[in-house]
Amino acid sequence: MTQNSITRSWVASANGHSDFPLQNLPLGVFSLKGSAPRAGVAIGEHIFDLQVALEAGLFDGVARSAVEAMQGGQLNAFFELGREARVALRERLIELFSEGSTLRGNIEAQGAKLLPLAADCQMHLPARISDYTDFYVGIEHAQNVGKLFRPDNPLLPNYKHVPIGYHGRASTVRASGTDVRRPKGQTLPAGQTEPVFGPCARLDYELELGIWIGQGNEMGEPIAIGDAAEHIAGFCLLNDWSARDIQAWEYQPLGPFLSKSFITSVSPWVVTAEALEPFRTAQPARPEGDPQPLPYLLDKRDQDGGAFDIELEVLLRTETMREQNLPAHRLTLSNTRYMYWTVAQMVAHHSVNGCQLQAGDLFGSGTLSGPENGQFGSLLEITEGGKKPIELASGEVRKFLEDGDEIILRARCAREGFASIGFGECRGTVIAAR
Ligand code: MN
Repeated sequence: MTQNSITRSWVASANGHSDFPLQNLPLGVFSLKGSAPRAGVAIGEHIFDLQVALEAGLFDGVARSAVEAMQGGQLNAFFELGREARVALRERLIELFSEGSTLRGNIEAQGAKLLPLAADCQMHLPARISDYTDFYVGIEHAQNVGKLFRPDNPLLPNYKHVPIGYHGRASTVRASGTDVRRPKGQTLPAGQTEPVFGPCARLDYELELGIWIGQGNEMGEPIAIGDAAEHIAGFCLLNDWSARDIQAWEYQPLGPFLSKSFITSVSPWVVTAEALEPFRTAQPARPEGDPQPLPYLLDKRDQDGGAFDIELEVLLRTETMREQNLPAHRLTLSNTRYMYWTVAQMVAHHSVNGCQLQAGDLFGSGTLSGPENGQFGSLLEITEGGKKPIELASGEVRKFLEDGDEIILRARCAREGFASIGFGECRGTVIAAR
């Protein structure tokens, strides 16, 4: 079913909703006060309780199996079912919620039991995450950061041949809204030769696209690039909170470690490939002189339509700004088009050595900065490592994040002739080191 064939919804708040119109239908795990976490779908200002809907007999066939796989408040088994189950569920949801649905009365009769307000619900991680891998495919970020660390040699020679990544920490991934405790660690103060231990003084955010893995692969059996899209369950926003002072001291030679593993925040809704279909675009052509990807990373269909046009935004609100009721300050306006490698290339590369991916694994894209001022996806880039502080409407200045600062990530997909969709928010507030 193409997006154009989807009509308005009888759920009034869904029509024109900036994130969750009928065309989106992202999946997530939520709870109402006192209830166990369960699967739901965002529609307008509401969440459709799939567990209650299942018990009410609103699903049959493949769609029913899809919802049955979500029991227990985790979407892993549903992710494992793959595209067919996802599409069957989506088509049934569109049928249930389209204007003129014959089941409107049945759903409305159950009121908030079946369709609670999202504002009354708490969101949780959508899946049990076995492994989290953070890539580095935002080439503008790689160049900006490379310049700070290695002015004469910003991009290392492997960058345009290998989708660079490192193994992140799955156990500290959290849903939006979880506070970010300032980490303590070992740093090397400028101009000194001996490290010190204490609270991070250069706490930063990283704006990333998150990718939820669907069907996995057997160990030893790589996922071919042409099949990679079949192994992706959906997408989210991801904030790879980073302690820059700890990172600068620890990162050589094996890459980030404790500077990243204290928390990673994700937006809780899983936006499906089907919802994002109208916002796919060709992978931008590589500049003249760049190498062609090796054959295992090159697929014509992926190059022709495997990238996304998703606008990404980062907002900052300090404690003082909240007290003075000032609007959030926009730090970043970027786009997923700044990815040098596609999501399919990440999947193919990750598994090419036989590494096993599993349903519910999480990938981060790497920081997605654009080339211009205002498009940088981290404070490290915006302030040039703390050299150029930013001024806020409250009169405050920031080089890096202070306690009480809240970072909000948002995403929006818009295209002429199509309904816009969004991802919901990924929020986190910095709290003092303990
Ligand atoms: Mn990162």
